[in-house]
Amino acid sequence: ITDKINALPDGANYFSLEFFPPKTSMGFANLSSRLERMSQALRPLFVTVTWGAGGSTATKSLELAEICQRQLGLTTCLHLTCTNMNRSLIDDALEQAKVLGIRNILALRGDAPRSEEYRDDAQLPEEDSNRDFTWAIDLVKYIRAKYGDYFCIGVAAYPEGHSDESYPEHQDPARDLPYLVEKVQAGADFVMTQLFFEVKAYDKFEKSLRTHESGAFKTIPIIPGLMPIQSYSILRRTTKLSHAKLPGKMLERLDAVQTDDELVKKVGVDILSEMVDHIKKQTSASRRGFHFYTLNLEKAVSHVLENCHLIPPTLQEEDEEAVVDITGPGI
Ligand code: FAD
Repeated sequence: ITDKINALPDGANYFSLEFFPPKTSMGFANLSSRLERMSQALRPLFVTVTWGAGGSTATKSLELAEICQRQLGLTTCLHLTCTNMNRSLIDDALEQAKVLGIRNILALRGDAPRSEEYRDDAQLPEEDSNRDFTWAIDLVKYIRAKYGDYFCIGVAAYPEGHSDESYPEHQDPARDLPYLVEKVQAGADFVMTQLFFEVKAYDKFEKSLRTHESGAFKTIPIIPGLMPIQSYSILRRTTKLSHAKLPGKMLERLDAVQTDDELVKKVGVDILSEMVDHIKKQTSASRRGFHFYTLNLEKAVSHVLENCHLIPPTLQEEDEEAVVDITGPGI
């Protein structure tokens, strides 16, 4: 991923798309054809495939990653969590990723360990991964130690802070920051954020990283995570789960149309397009990326990408543009 980003010209924009493995074979068939359409029409720089906490989707995540990487030839990033799951699952996932030609891992902690009692070493079976993996940084270090530079590693960040079972009261980016620095210093190559709607909070967050005294984030890609609005109820549910705040003005626009699904989608596309345009303008990075949580859906993200001119030209279009350039006025 970072090689592809670095090969882009200065000032270029790029985007990535997230997909999760469907539960049924019918779902897989539907998603495969949608992915084929989307990859041809939208041309993402890369795609990511989620991993169920505790390894609950291990087989299906690898199956979907195989479709993306092998069948569709997409640069694929496999999400991988490390707590609450046997270490052999981590080893298998990394080995299989390598066999499939996948070069990118998003190294995550996943859900917090079930209880303090379970964290007591005496209670753990000999081979339990919880002995080795408590935080995402443990996985970053593990991958680097075992695979050297083979994998490009991404890590998660939270513009509005992170809270979970172990620290339900915390929702503070400043508390997370030292740990994010450590993840990058341990070998992470890029940072990808939780979804958000407060662009000002994102601006502040990215600035705090770029100017951090450690220098850890000076040049590393920081990719904001955006979730296209598919419906009023999905939006309310996902913002509650992720603790993303909905700015009052945005909520007013959506509240006004909440009973009309089509209008919610339309207003949602406008909102996301405005967010992308805002972030583009604030950008200090030489290449600006955007990551979209697609929820495996096609339309909303396609409209946003079109509106914001994020879809790269096909090779044929590039050639045609080059011809226009040399035969255009003035020659
Ligand atoms: P960490 O970096 O370990 O941080 C977790 C929390 O612990 C933070 O609050 C941090 O401040 C704190 N912390 C870190 N290190 C220490 C330390 N040494 N001492 C004390 N506190 C510490 N989950 C899934 O299950 N599957 C997925 O596919 C998935 N994809 C995701 C993709 C993105 C882009 C993001 C942003 C999240 C994703 N998640 C996924 C959710 C993620 O697993 C959870 O948010 C999890 O609770 C935290 O993971 P992390 O990698 O940020 O953990």
